[in-house]
Amino acid sequence: MDTPSARISTAVGCNHRCSFCQTGGDYGSTAAPVIPIKDERHGTLVVTALSLWDAGVRHFSITGGEPLTNPRVTFELSAILRMKLDQWKRESSSSGCYLRLNTNGVLVKKYIDQVAKYYDLVKVSLHSLNPEVYASITGSRTPNADLGATLEGLAFLNERGIKVRLQSVATPENVGELWRLIEFCRGFDNITDFKVFDISEYPELWRDHGNGSAFWQQNYVSLDPLEKEIQERGGMLLEIAQSVGGYGNPMPIYQLGNLRIRLRHSSRGAYYSDACKTCKAWKTCGDGHCNAEVGPNGVIKVCRPMEGITFRPGQEGEVVAFFKNVHFNPRSDLQERWKR
Ligand code: SF4
Repeated sequence: MDTPSARISTAVGCNHRCSFCQTGGDYGSTAAPVIPIKDERHGTLVVTALSLWDAGVRHFSITGGEPLTNPRVTFELSAILRMKLDQWKRESSSSGCYLRLNTNGVLVKKYIDQVAKYYDLVKVSLHSLNPEVYASITGSRTPNADLGATLEGLAFLNERGIKVRLQSVATPENVGELWRLIEFCRGFDNITDFKVFDISEYPELWRDHGNGSAFWQQNYVSLDPLEKEIQERGGMLLEIAQSVGGYGNPMPIYQLGNLRIRLRHSSRGAYYSDACKTCKAWKTCGDGHCNAEVGPNGVIKVCRPMEGITFRPGQEGEVVAFFKNVHFNPRSDLQERWKR
């Protein structure tokens, strides 16, 4: 196993309230949409990012909440990481690194210059092109304006030639629309990848979305039928990939024309630590340890649910060492739950 990637959350808040988002995951929060992160915390975040760098991490994604709701911290940190990565690439002649942005796309147009300047790939979460479904899934207060702004943002990214991965979470509301989203992606030169996630089961969900297990029971949709459809429509299996460092769920990647389609099935096993068996989430956890997740306060998680294991700033080397001791478990004990 190798060094994992890091996801750094630069925003506590989000302008959306997606139904499947968990409290504490990518730092989900009940806080108001835009919360300035205090300077000392910002300092902690930069120090944590640079300590992860010193521990060997070379793959970073900036996430939230919605990172573009906190542009100052997002772009200041991104500028530092971009400089480090570019310097390292020059000196080591290696391209094995990246800085990516995770966004719901609503504010991309507003910050297009910075977005175009800093990131190797922009991952835009878009779960539906249907305004009603978009409104229902995202909980947006202004869904028509947000969907329109996201589409404009994608057009701006296309004009600038910035590589994009569109990402969708499959729910009962949008599962019939996933093929339309695939065709949508194929209409853009710069959308190289489309990634579909099934719903993860989290013990807690954001805001008033209630019990995570009850939500999962009602809303989990297997990606198996979509995978079969991709095969029937000529999608060629390129590889079964893992996340950076060899972690995460084994993920089939299909090539369909110029588009790569990645399917994140939580049902195909994951990487766990010895400590997992004492974790409250063990009985249902399909995600395992995938990457280091840094919250705005510098606390580092090694998995997404709140019950998971956390490290403090200053323990970045221990985080990397932790990952090197995880092991794959196919979770055959959970397979019946995922059959639906
Ligand atoms: S420690 Fe993390 S990966 Fe392990 S079972 Fe708990 S939530 Fe899942």
